[in-house]
Amino acid sequence: MEQEHFALGGFPQGPGEAPSRGAIPLRTRRTEVGRELSQREPAATVRPVVSATPAQLASVAVGRPVRGEFTYLVPEALGDKLAPGQRVLVPFGRGMALGFYLGPANAPVEGGVRLKPIQRVLEDSPSLPKDLIALLRFTAEHYRYPLGEVIRGALPPGLSTAVDEKEAKPDIQFFVEALVTEVPPQLARAPAQAAVLQYLLAVGGRAPLDEVTHAIPGARETLKKLATRKFVKWVEVTLQAGVREGLVQNRPDRLTPEQALAVKELQGAVDAGGFQPYLLHGVTGSGKTEVYLRAVEHTLARGLGSLVLVPEIALTPQLVGRFRSRFGGDVAVLHSGLKDRERLFHWQALRKGTVKIAVGVRSAVFAPVEHLGLIVVDEEHDPSFKQDEKLRYQARDLAVVRGKQAGAVVVLGSATPSLETLQNTRSGRYKLVELKNRVDDRPMPSISLVDLRVERPREGQVTEEAPILSPQMLQAMEETVAKGQQVILFLNRRGHSTILLCEVCGLSLKCHDCDVCMTHHRSQNRVVCHYCGVAFPVPDRCRECTGPLLKLGIGTERVEAEVLERMPHARVARLDRDSATSAEKLTELLASFARRELDVLVGTQMVAKGHDFPGVTLVCVVMADTSLAIPDFRAAERTFHLLTQVAGRAGRGKDPGRVLVQTYNPDAEPVKRVLAHDFDGFSKQELEWRKALAYPPFARMAAVRLEGEHPEQTAGVARFLGNLVGRHMPPASAGVRLLGPALAPIARIRGKTRWQLLLKAPTHSALAPLLARLEAALPDVPNGVKVVIDVDPGAML
Ligand code: ADP
Ligand code: ZN
Repeated sequence: MEQEHFALGGFPQGPGEAPSRGAIPLRTRRTEVGRELSQREPAATVRPVVSATPAQLASVAVGRPVRGEFTYLVPEALGDKLAPGQRVLVPFGRGMALGFYLGPANAPVEGGVRLKPIQRVLEDSPSLPKDLIALLRFTAEHYRYPLGEVIRGALPPGLSTAVDEKEAKPDIQFFVEALVTEVPPQLARAPAQAAVLQYLLAVGGRAPLDEVTHAIPGARETLKKLATRKFVKWVEVTLQAGVREGLVQNRPDRLTPEQALAVKELQGAVDAGGFQPYLLHGVTGSGKTEVYLRAVEHTLARGLGSLVLVPEIALTPQLVGRFRSRFGGDVAVLHSGLKDRERLFHWQALRKGTVKIAVGVRSAVFAPVEHLGLIVVDEEHDPSFKQDEKLRYQARDLAVVRGKQAGAVVVLGSATPSLETLQNTRSGRYKLVELKNRVDDRPMPSISLVDLRVERPREGQVTEEAPILSPQMLQAMEETVAKGQQVILFLNRRGHSTILLCEVCGLSLKCHDCDVCMTHHRSQNRVVCHYCGVAFPVPDRCRECTGPLLKLGIGTERVEAEVLERMPHARVARLDRDSATSAEKLTELLASFARRELDVLVGTQMVAKGHDFPGVTLVCVVMADTSLAIPDFRAAERTFHLLTQVAGRAGRGKDPGRVLVQTYNPDAEPVKRVLAHDFDGFSKQELEWRKALAYPPFARMAAVRLEGEHPEQTAGVARFLGNLVGRHMPPASAGVRLLGPALAPIARIRGKTRWQLLLKAPTHSALAPLLARLEAALPDVPNGVKVVIDVDPGAML
């Protein structure tokens, strides 16, 4: 749920601002009757029990979109049953609500408030461990989101509603297994049974029951008969939830000298105990995963828990596979594809401490790992750690906060660390551990440039663009495939052509509802808006002047078609959101590339992730320019990361790798630095630029994003909020700056006008009072305009 505005009101409210709410407190405590008791208290302190108070009071977060913590009475009967972190049932408004008991509360400062009692305790042992309560409180406070909603969002279904806790059963799947190796003669007169057995033998003697009954209708009954005759047996398999096949890898006997040093350092820190953040900066192919594995192994041996965050499970089956094959049932794999029951099962297993390792995507930062000793964030630079809706948290940042609260070692690993993390390392807040060489001293790939301005001349009349694969690139691909090696082709744009431009009037085909061009998807024979998803048949002519349409701008579909045309003998597949429509398809594509059933893989940033394909010796960047021009202060950094990461897929096996980068901007800073393998040079220069312009990591930011039905009304609200901030700006010496209000770079999505205000300040605490002002004014914003506050924003679009 987005920020809900529960109070209605006219807008704007006269010359001042929102109806006065007194001195706006950093955090507001409300009693259940809804009165505000503006008590300033830091979020993460647990208040002492005041034994002198006549009745025991409890601080409760309510699972409703309301701010603050609420005070309830503790009925005598519950007195000794309450423990912080428990789910409780409380009266709220006119009904009952799920609440979370956080600890004892002080008596309200104002008298005369009639408090209501906690109704019931919904579980014996608390769902939330102590260190997690602290993290959730910090999260609600920092990202300005209702605490009860933060907690509910962290909990698995089954615990996030007001029902008594139930024990989750693990998932069970039935397999049937043949007990014979061929169809016995006794079955000559039972053709149905013979057929089913025949099928089972054909698929390797063992298959899931569902699969057999799907292939042969009625097979269930037949299988029962076969089981009675002892030709087959049923096997019950407890599923390790979320486990998909990965490359099973053995534990290497020897670490590289750099790995050994890194492991020693991390193990030492785990032994020493206490919070210690690290940046593990290791070039692509340096064996970072093995360092994580050894650190987790060591932590486990000490009886402590580990939490490992990865960008996307489906894109990293290899990493998950490595953890699974090393730690077996000691790992809970947490991702968005889990069934409700599986999520509950994992939560409870971690909470009980029967499972001590959690591997998961960003939301796993809230996993209830017990006795946390180690937190790993792999590919810490990855943008997917920031959630871009609802609760807009940055899981990498929260991982560090959690490490601090739990007293754990935190390892942020990457070949291309974010500038935020790098700056924390430079300033001495994080320790640096480096892996400068690849495993087995394999060379880094050689990277060379193809200047598209020279290599892609246009010839004669065109209705489509000139081919995008330069002769050099084609030749390199041919050579690589001829040697039986594999190629990755990277272009960060989906579809066939990304612009349909009228040859007569020059207008490009735009979405009706969004301020973006429609993309031509030839395989579907449609044009699609990548922002709202609307799609329709490809128009023949310009909507305005009926002129013919040119197809410009290249996407992965077009690249794939070009490869198929120029290299008809090659086995080619495409990996992007259009081809990998489900986690299964994605896994299957990656697995088949790993099994070397494909020669060429064309894809978007999905091919740039941490894959380890030893057969890949050539990586081609089809156009390095796509992410350069995005109006975002992180555009250069993001381009540098993407290019370095995708280049790092080459030469990870015994054969050396090479990389070809096609570009129209050979002089662009990120392109030049990638070519020179110069991370240090790039980041030094980029940091200087960020410092000069006061952008993160030298400033903290918050974005106020507006979306409204009516352009004027939205603009009006944006101006109103801008004025509000303007009036409450601290003195210039505090260094707080407001950019905007301005139309967002994409000014319209789904028919809604978008505005934004950007706030920058040297520290987050300098921003907080302004954000509190803004928040207090939100209830008075008309319903037609949605306003969200995005603290530490990711993408600027
Ligand atoms: P990174 O994440 O740093 O890019 P990986 O962790 O994927 O690198 O490791 C690269 C490859 O090297 C993997 O195939 C991994 O199994 C292998 N590897 C890692 N450490 C060792 C080692 N000590 N000895 C042999 N092979 C190793
Ligand atoms: Zn659209």
